[in-house]
Amino acid sequence: MADDAHPPPTPPRVEPGAPAIEIGLPDRPVPPSRRSRISIGIDLGTSNSCAAVVQNGRPRVIPSRDGYNTIPSMVALNQRQRVVVGRNAKGQLLFSPARTVHGAKRLVGRAFDSAVVQSMLSHFPYEVVSTEDGFCAVRLGPLTLSMEQVQALVLQEVKGVAENFLGEEVNRAVITVPAYYSERQREAVRRAGALAGLHVERILNEPTAAALAYAWGRNVRERVLVYDLGGGTFDASVLELADRVYQVVSTGGDTFLGGVDFDQRIVAHLVSEFERQHGPFQGDAVAFSRLTDAAERAKCALSEQERFPIHLPYLASVDGSPTALDVTLTRTELEALVAPLVERTVRTCARVLQDKGLGPGDVDEVILVGGQSRMPLVQERIRAFFGKAPSKAVHPDEAVAVGAALLAQSLDSAEGVVLIDVVPISIGVGLPGGGGRVKRVIERNSPLPVRKEYQLATTKDDQKTFDLWIFEGEGATVAECQYLGTVQLTGLPRGAKGSVRIAVAFELGEECLLTVRARELGAGREVEVTFTTKGTPAEVKKRVEKEASYAAAGIVVPPPGAVGTPHPGPVAHPAPAAEPPPPASGGLKGLWSRITGR
Ligand code: ADP
Ligand code: MG
Repeated sequence: MADDAHPPPTPPRVEPGAPAIEIGLPDRPVPPSRRSRISIGIDLGTSNSCAAVVQNGRPRVIPSRDGYNTIPSMVALNQRQRVVVGRNAKGQLLFSPARTVHGAKRLVGRAFDSAVVQSMLSHFPYEVVSTEDGFCAVRLGPLTLSMEQVQALVLQEVKGVAENFLGEEVNRAVITVPAYYSERQREAVRRAGALAGLHVERILNEPTAAALAYAWGRNVRERVLVYDLGGGTFDASVLELADRVYQVVSTGGDTFLGGVDFDQRIVAHLVSEFERQHGPFQGDAVAFSRLTDAAERAKCALSEQERFPIHLPYLASVDGSPTALDVTLTRTELEALVAPLVERTVRTCARVLQDKGLGPGDVDEVILVGGQSRMPLVQERIRAFFGKAPSKAVHPDEAVAVGAALLAQSLDSAEGVVLIDVVPISIGVGLPGGGGRVKRVIERNSPLPVRKEYQLATTKDDQKTFDLWIFEGEGATVAECQYLGTVQLTGLPRGAKGSVRIAVAFELGEECLLTVRARELGAGREVEVTFTTKGTPAEVKKRVEKEASYAAAGIVVPPPGAVGTPHPGPVAHPAPAAEPPPPASGGLKGLWSRITGR
C-alpha cells in the first residue's frame, strides 16, 4: 500500500555541535512488518488524540498511560534535549512555549509560503520554517522537524499506548482527518502514519466517523448534521444514514476555526483588562503562554459556571515591578467575545445545507462533537438555528475515535459498512494564457470515487510535453485557489500541432486522494505522467498567467455526460483482500507519490 511505498522524506536536521537528542525520530517509513491481528481507530486531533478498538463486538476507548481517554497532540524538546510527546510535552508548554509544538494539524500538508500559513505565523509561539520542498516545519532549538514528523511522533505515542493496553503489537489503523482537509493534507497524514510504523488501512473523515459511532447498534434511517468544533478546525457535514449505508451529501468547514481561536479572543480581552488596570502590557512569550492557559481554563470552567476568577501573579513588569493580572470573567462576557466565531459556524451549517437545497428543518438530528461544542452558547445557537436540541447520543471527545475503530473492525469482517463520501474542495486546472483562470475539473460535493476525463491538443509541431497546473478551491482564478502541483505529460508522439490529442483522467478515490492518468487518443497509448510540487505557488501562478503551452487548444470541455464516468455507486467494504499494486515509482517525489502514470 501507499504507506509502505513512500520515498524517505528529508531526515530531521540537527545543527552541528548540538547535543544528541535521545529519541528515535521517525525519518523514514518503517519497513512493512507482518500485519497485526488488531486494527485500531485513531482520532488525530489538533488538541487531543484518541484511540479506540473493537473488542468482543464492542468499541472502547483506549486509556492513556496515565488513565486519560485522550493524549495531547503535542511534541516538545525538553531542557535535557529530549523529545517528549503527549502529556509530558503539554507539561512544559507554560514555561517553554517556543519549544513545544501544538496545533501541528493546522500546518501539516500546507505550503510554507501559502497565504494562509503566512497570515498565521505570528500566532504560533514556536518557530515555523520551510522544509526543502516548501512545506511547513518547526524549529525547536537545534532540531528541525517536518509537520509530518511531528504528527508521526504523536501517532507513535498512540501506537505505544495501544500496544501497552492491549498487550500485543498494533501496526494497523484507520486514521481520521477533517472532512474539509485538502488532498495534500490527507496524503501528509498517510505519510505520518507510515513514519510511525502504521499500515494506514484507511483515511476516514471525522464526521463520517462520528456518524458511525452515532448509528452503531441502532437501526436509524435519518438525515443528520455532524457539527464538529474541536481545538483548531470546524467541520459541518450532512449525512444520510440508512441501515449500514452512510452517505455524506454535503460538507463544508474551516480548517482555521476552533477552540484556540476562542482562547485568543479571551487572551486579547485579558491583555486589554491588564492595560486598563496598569498601563502598557509588556509580556514575553511565557506571559502569553500563561495567558492562553488561563484563558482556556476559564473558557472550559464557564461551560459549567457563570463566573471565573483569573489570578496570574508576576505576569508582566510595569515600571520595573512584576505585576499580577486579576480579573473575573463572566459567561456573558465570554459569550460576547466569541459570538462572532459561533456565528461563523452557524453560517457554515446554513451553507452546507443550502448547497443541497436543504434547510435547517430537513435535519433529523444534529450530532455535536469536538470539545468546543460543550460551550452552552454553541448549543443554544444550534437549538435556535435547527429548532431542536442537539443529540446527546455520542461522547464529544470519543465519538470520532470510536467510529474509526468501528470502521477498522468492519474492514476486517465480512459484514462491511458502506461509506460514501464527497469531494470537500473543487479541483481544477490552471488555464495557460488565460490570465490566470482556473477550469473546474471536479466539483465540490461530488460523491467519491469520482473520475473526470478531459481532452487536450498540442499547440506546436512535435510538441513533446504538456504541463498541467493543478489547483484546489472554489475561486475562478489562480489567486483565489491553492496550488497543488504540476502534472507533466512527457514522451508525446510526434505530429503536426493540433494533431496529437490527449485524454487526461482525474480520479479521486474513496479516501479523496488524487490520481492522474493520461492517454494519447491516436494510438490509445498511455502517456507518462509525473508529478512535481516544485516551484513556489507564487511562481506557478505567474507561469499560469503568462505561459501558453497549450493555450490554443485550451481544455476541450466535453458536453455534459459525453466523457467522464458517472459515479459508479456505493463501494462496499471490506476492501478486497489482495493488496493493491504499489504506485508506479518513476521518480515521483514528495506527497504526490500516489499519482501514477501507468
Ligand atoms: P481536536 O479534535 O481538534 O483535538 P477537541 O475535540 O479535543 O479538539 O477539542 C479541544 C477544544 O475543546 C479545546 O479548544 C478546548 O479548550 C475545548 N474544550 C474542551 N472542553 C471544553 C468545555 N468544557 N467547554 C468549552 N470548550 C472546551
Ligand atoms: Mg476532533
